[in-house]
Amino acid sequence: MDIFSHSLWTGLIYRKEKKIWWPIIFSVAPDLFSNGIYVVISIFKGISFVDSTRVHLNPVGPEIIPTLYSFSHSLVFFAIAFIAVWLILKKPWWPLAAWGIHILVDIPFHSVKYFATPFLYPLSSFSIDSINWGDNNYILAINFCVLAVIYFALYITKNKRKHLVTYFNAKRKLVKR
Ligand SMILES: [Zn+2]
Repeated sequence: MDIFSHSLWTGLIYRKEKKIWWPIIFSVAPDLFSNGIYVVISIFKGISFVDSTRVHLNPVGPEIIPTLYSFSHSLVFFAIAFIAVWLILKKPWWPLAAWGIHILVDIPFHSVKYFATPFLYPLSSFSIDSINWGDNNYILAINFCVLAVIYFALYITKNKRKHLVTYFNAKRKLVKR
């Protein structure tokens, strides 16, 4: 998925979290620290990173990008990091779980041609050949519609709750008088 969808879904899941920026950062980090680097290099080199031949997606050089992608999209490395932080803090640090959520969201939306999620790296090169989100406009359209509906519904219920609280507070004041 694209980084906007990742951050919007994470924002929903962690909406009760006070420091929302930590999960948001972990939700986009797997892409920023792999393909994001490639995009920055392409911009500096003046190469188009969105060309239709998708040459940029088979980055022969710099070789490091596919390795970084495998590392940042591996549930194995995520689990090691999550457990290590858990041991250090002596409690799970949930914002970090946004990294794992990113990987789980990516698995059904990448094809072998387009960075199929190497979620078992380095234990296995197994990946699922799904429909790539970038190749199917319906996926993105449905995704953003669902997000818009949920965010709108949350906004409405939050406002309604606020109105009800002010209404009852005003009533209570009247009763006290
Ligand atoms: Zn990703």
